[in-house]
Amino acid sequence: MGGCHSYPSAKEADGKTLQPSDISSDKLGINNNNQEARPYLQQQYVCQRITHADMYALIALPPGVDKAEWLASNTVAFFKHINLFSSALSEFCTPSTCPTACGPGNAVYVWTDDHGRKLKCSAPLYFDYAMSYIQDLLTDEDVFPTKAGAKFPTGFVFMVQKVFLLLFRTMAHIYWSHYTQAQQVGLHPHLNTLFMHLTLFCRHHELLDPEDTEPLQDLITALGRQG
Ligand SMILES: [Zn+2]
Repeated sequence: MGGCHSYPSAKEADGKTLQPSDISSDKLGINNNNQEARPYLQQQYVCQRITHADMYALIALPPGVDKAEWLASNTVAFFKHINLFSSALSEFCTPSTCPTACGPGNAVYVWTDDHGRKLKCSAPLYFDYAMSYIQDLLTDEDVFPTKAGAKFPTGFVFMVQKVFLLLFRTMAHIYWSHYTQAQQVGLHPHLNTLFMHLTLFCRHHELLDPEDTEPLQDLITALGRQG
């Protein structure tokens, strides 16, 4: 199991600045990994979590805590966890196994640079771009200030929403293309717990649109039934 990747700057990745607003997905791509089976929906897997703690208690804004600070600290924590799991499965996600960054259904995530050019890229490259982008943002003192008294910028929530969209897509690709491998190494109870925490947090704080989460709505519903 690997640790966190140290990602190059998004600007270094291909010499261009990559913008989250340019990320788009289309329905034209063909997913060739897992067309029909959705093993993550099988009851023997969907019921597996590492904790049955009250998730709602974990996601709500604690009394006396600033809303932006709460969003920021959770954004960092979710990034670290999802980056860690993605790294743990990275040996299974290569340009040959995953020539496109696909998700459930026929969703294909396409990275677009700041000149509007769509970059044809494999899943590992797409998610390298995504993680680099997020890492750059989280370490940008103007966006995620760490100094006492520093104010969060206008549009902070919008940036957080972009980060959570990329994190959701990372998990969507893992569930869609690498669930069996995650299950074989025993990571699936952790995935379910993290995914449930992520989706409940995003719903409570209105960070993802229903159309963004729709590809995994069946899993969200199935996990919700487990209580
Ligand atoms: Zn992959």
